[in-house]
Amino acid sequence: MPTKLDPWGAAIPENYTRVMEEFGISPFESILQSIPDPHPLMKRKIIFGHRDFMRVLNAMKQGKKFAVMTGLMPSGRMHIGHKLVIDQLIWYQSHKSDIFLCVADLEAYSARGISLEQSKKLAVEEYLANYQALGLDLERCHVYFQSTNNAVRHLAFLLSKRVNLSEMKAIYGFVGESSISQIYYPMIDIADILHPQLKEFGGPRPTIIPVGIDQDPHIRLARDVATRFQKEFNFILPSSTYHRLLPGLTGDKMSSSRPETAVFLTDTDSELEKKIKNAFTGGLPTAAEQRQLGGDPTKCRVYELYVYHLLPDDENLSEVSGLCRSGRMICGECKNRAIELMKRYLKEHRAKYKRALPKVRKIVEDI
Ligand code: SF4
Repeated sequence: MPTKLDPWGAAIPENYTRVMEEFGISPFESILQSIPDPHPLMKRKIIFGHRDFMRVLNAMKQGKKFAVMTGLMPSGRMHIGHKLVIDQLIWYQSHKSDIFLCVADLEAYSARGISLEQSKKLAVEEYLANYQALGLDLERCHVYFQSTNNAVRHLAFLLSKRVNLSEMKAIYGFVGESSISQIYYPMIDIADILHPQLKEFGGPRPTIIPVGIDQDPHIRLARDVATRFQKEFNFILPSSTYHRLLPGLTGDKMSSSRPETAVFLTDTDSELEKKIKNAFTGGLPTAAEQRQLGGDPTKCRVYELYVYHLLPDDENLSEVSGLCRSGRMICGECKNRAIELMKRYLKEHRAKYKRALPKVRKIVEDI
């Protein structure tokens, strides 16, 4: 059966290699050597695939203009999985890219029924203030809300002329009960992706969209539509990178709507302690068995936290993996170590967040 990628769903693909083959995504590994200072997420193969990344890399190396486009759907609290994109944005910002950051309030309304007012509050308090606290300089980004960006909405309407309902059904699986806003929404998303290439926004120029693999339907449609509107806009096909989705602590996809699956950046110490203690691991049923036979970090959600976030140093990471596999460290000790590292991180982050919030409120007021 063909793989189904759902940008609004809860499933994580089981086999990333198969997804890459099916959708024509190139392996990131084969271009890693060309990048002078790859991001740790690239080195650890968390960013595993791309489409036309070399176009952006060449612009970067030659000091030419390029843009990064990303978005956030303000539908709940920001969790540690969301941080993956922000880490990449910070890297691109250090390489002088122009960053477009869209608050997808129309998507939150269409997909989750969240009002525009609620979206604004969530966007500021849960996402943008955290982004700034993580180190992204929002004053140097083009932050906008879909609901108030006339250029994007106008472009969406123009582009929709050459996309039909059968195509939308085939890509997104829309059915008779799907609302018209759901069916039309991807056109807004496509316009978000392509608008940095309009003349008035500095285009056409190479543009990269760093996404989780579940967002690939939007990328494929955007590239197809860009081809159909070559004559009018001279679009350069948007490039993309794909990262693995950080699995939830319980084993499913990490989700803002299921707090037990994710560590939120605004979690209290006791909340995060409880979540990590209850996390799914690659350990064995008894301590004695695990000491004798060792655990399996590749199946473990706590180990994923180390890989994605807690242990940026490769030596430290391989030490944890070795201790686990040999049984010299069992899950209780390992979880306590992760809890301590995460507590320390969030303590510093909370202080940064407090400083960032008023600044971000002012940035959003001025949009
Ligand atoms: Fe996971 Fe640590 Fe247990 Fe190994 S020891 S399975 S890495 S929690």
